Amino acid sequence: MQSKRPVVLITGGSRGIGAAVAQLAAARGYDVAITYRSERDAAEQVLAACRASGAAAVACQGDVALDDDVVRVFDEAEAALGLISHVVNNAGITGKSSRLAEASTETIRACMDVNALGAIWVAREAARRLATSRGGLGGTIVNISSVAASLGSPNEYVWYAASKGAVDSLTVGLAKELAGEGIRVNAVSPGMTKTDIHERSTQDAGRLERLRPFIPLNRIGEPGEIAEAVLFLMSDASSYITGANIPVSGGR
Ligand code: NAP
Repeated sequence: MQSKRPVVLITGGSRGIGAAVAQLAAARGYDVAITYRSERDAAEQVLAACRASGAAAVACQGDVALDDDVVRVFDEAEAALGLISHVVNNAGITGKSSRLAEASTETIRACMDVNALGAIWVAREAARRLATSRGGLGGTIVNISSVAASLGSPNEYVWYAASKGAVDSLTVGLAKELAGEGIRVNAVSPGMTKTDIHERSTQDAGRLERLRPFIPLNRIGEPGEIAEAVLFLMSDASSYITGANIPVSGGR
């Protein structure tokens, strides 16, 4: 049975920014499907928080780099919650930081597979399911990019910056392509945000504090501050906005 609350699917919702988006969406009246790759326990904690806000919530395991997994998690989410009308394309990795010359093929390929191709698989499945001409409800797609796409991340991970450049182009093109299908497509570009990605992906525990002086607002962002921009782009308050990319970066 179709849920009365709008349904949002958030990739990489088990931790960090995705988890914050899931919890804010639940509090704002959405039912929530999160995906995760391996951290089932973390996903369960996010589900519990969403349910405490009165939302129906499910977690679906899947690797966004695999197009078959992407189709399956959409199937599982819709079977549990009803038709999806909002998709947050959030799952992402950086890979261990280094100059490009020292980076392994494996590191670069994994990042492109998850951030660029994965975002495209998720956006393609969202386009198929949300399009009004295909029987969908219309809705929104919010892609999580990064200010790295314009800064370039020299000496850290230029391949990651390039993968987010792909997300920015995807956002601009798909917004135009889906405008007649009742779907708005926008991006949020976080700056330095307090999540595990820095320590886990880059194996660089001191990165956030080292880069803080280069942030005009002189502090690291909270995941909830990114989530506010995402929820704005999902809501009718942004009804005339498509193809936009909002930096949430403390001015960086
Ligand atoms: P995070 O704390 O490391 O969380 C990453 C999430 O993505 C987890 O839920 C993880 O699942 C999931 N994930 C990773 N690889 C996946 C895959 N192949 N398939 C499915 N799920 C996968 O990261 P975050 O900092 O919240 O980052 C979220 C997004 O914001 C990313 O796109 C990132 O590039 C972007 N961003 C972050 C920052 C920042 O400073 N944090 C800045 C700019 C942009 P598991 O829990 O199962 O591992």
